Amino acid sequence: MKKILAAVITIIIPVFLFYGISYAEGTNLKDIEKSWAKADILKAVSEGYVKGYSDSTFRPDSSVTRAEFITMLNSAFSVPTSTAASNFKDVKNGDWYTGEIMTAVNAGYVSGYPDNTFKPDKSVNREESAYIINNLAKLSAGDQKNYKDSNKISGWAKPSIDALAANGIMSGYPDGSFCPSKSLTRAEAVVIINKVKALEASTPQKDNEDITPVHTVLTVTGSKVNLRSGPGTSYGIVGKVYKGDILTATQHSAGNWYNVTINNLSGWITGDYVKETTDINRGDSGQDNTGRGNPGTGTDTDSNTGSNNGSNTSGNEVSGSGKLVVIDPGHGGYDPGALGTDGTYEKDINLAIALKLSDYLTGKGYRVLLTRSDDTFVPLIDRSNMANNAKADIFVSIHCNSLNHKTSGTTTFTEPLSGHPVYSPQEDSKRLATYVQSQLTAALGLPDRGVSEEGLSVCRETNAPAILVETAFIDNPADEKMLIDPLVQEASAQAIGQGIDLYFANSQPESEN
Ligand code: ZN
Repeated sequence: MKKILAAVITIIIPVFLFYGISYAEGTNLKDIEKSWAKADILKAVSEGYVKGYSDSTFRPDSSVTRAEFITMLNSAFSVPTSTAASNFKDVKNGDWYTGEIMTAVNAGYVSGYPDNTFKPDKSVNREESAYIINNLAKLSAGDQKNYKDSNKISGWAKPSIDALAANGIMSGYPDGSFCPSKSLTRAEAVVIINKVKALEASTPQKDNEDITPVHTVLTVTGSKVNLRSGPGTSYGIVGKVYKGDILTATQHSAGNWYNVTINNLSGWITGDYVKETTDINRGDSGQDNTGRGNPGTGTDTDSNTGSNNGSNTSGNEVSGSGKLVVIDPGHGGYDPGALGTDGTYEKDINLAIALKLSDYLTGKGYRVLLTRSDDTFVPLIDRSNMANNAKADIFVSIHCNSLNHKTSGTTTFTEPLSGHPVYSPQEDSKRLATYVQSQLTAALGLPDRGVSEEGLSVCRETNAPAILVETAFIDNPADEKMLIDPLVQEASAQAIGQGIDLYFANSQPESEN
């Protein structure tokens, strides 16, 4: 839990070169074991946009220079290379960073100083990094957010800092400060870049030009999808549609959004959660096909089936027709999670409970996908991606808490109401959390620490309703003793399973409208 929390709190980075180090080889980095950003560092290194030093260190807490930062960004976001010559007084042709700097300047996301210098070796501070990354990523604007040191944030950086906070990229420290002039660390840089990359991968293009007329009938494939006032996630929500709803589309945008009507409601919906439908007796369908998509395949227009058929489980095939529950045993592999006073690893308890929960659910006819079923390391974002690709109905992450060796009890977390770009799963997440929390506290008899909102990667990045369960405190000797008992693990699994049963038993049929 600790690491997840830390990973969410803030952010950013540095470096170059590229060995194509795999996750396994990443363990050669001998100074990241204790870093809060270890998982992100391993991911970044494996993606090749940053690398460790030749002495097998990563130096997660070192600052990042301007040249290093843009080198990482150019690589991470595949910025088109420029071979322009430098006009900056302090960037000479032949310096290692000249090509990177001219590439970034040419792409327009960074510029030099008024005195015609670039200051490549100056460390980038947190507000500069926010400004640069927002220039590059062009995130949707956010509401003004107050930090306890807001008065120290430069005016030019404020809108970028608000945009990064609104998009869950960089939101300040737990004590409420932002520390605008503090140097960005390599660990922070990597976490921020990973988050922006994940956001871009999950967000449809914000393209709103290039709208073409269409005459198409669409079926909604997502369980609950927003209709917006324009073709992109920066537009307001005007309504919601549900799986199986039939929409008539009259326009399509280059960013793959459709202008649709259903009953008396009209708005724009992302093309990611609809499919074209042809065999339906509705006037103009089937005519004037635009050629997009693959009409005639996978039609699923019977809105009364309530089944999950037609979902595309690219990669993670899970057969059957029950609800799909993704179970996420926290940590694993190089990442042990919290440590028990008696030496128990959190990752082992999480896995034991998850496997028992999997048995319980499978026995009840659910489909189950485990993000890991053995002691392996899985990056946080991959856990959510697995659930998203498989079109999970719900996502349940299992952890053990730790604090001060004394605190005891059970907590369940959900994502704060922050506006996922497409879905609004928070209400369902909270309902699921409430059922699971009450079953689990009844089964374990430990203090009920309630359902809380917390910015957690696995909950935020998962499209389906998602919760993170902290069964008990592994660093409390009494809780730890319980957690290592297979009977208690079984009871925990059953209680979580019963919470899941209650959630679905009390859910509205998906296709009802
Ligand atoms: Zn944990």
